[in-house]
Amino acid sequence: MTTKQQSELDHAIERAAQHSIEVTGRGFRKSDHAVLFTTNSASEENRWHIVIVSGSRLVCDCRSRKICAHRAAVHIELTVAAAKREAFAARVARSLELDADRAAAEETAQAERDAANDRRDADRWELIDAGNW
Ligand SMILES: [Zn+2]
Repeated sequence: MTTKQQSELDHAIERAAQHSIEVTGRGFRKSDHAVLFTTNSASEENRWHIVIVSGSRLVCDCRSRKICAHRAAVHIELTVAAAKREAFAARVARSLELDADRAAAEETAQAERDAANDRRDADRWELIDAGNW
């Protein structure tokens, strides 16, 4: 992304925040199963704009030729969702690590119990062999 594009996106994000443009719904286009989002409109009450995810592009049905607030709102939604997925994946990874640590600790404890049992058995055999049983 160029500096100009980043700046244009920043302005679009500012406009979205300023006009409380946010994602109001999501779904799939029936004809090709493209992911789509709906946002509210700053200029018209009770109107939704449809933003379609086309590959890595966001295509809005509004007339704006720049990055519009609707696409910016969807961009924010996708960014937040990605961050949540990443945080969830990190929590899952941490849980898996804890499970592995517990399993390793249990394995070590079992090995220690087995070794202690082996030592007791060896002591008993010594007593039996010595006829002191
Ligand atoms: Zn738009």
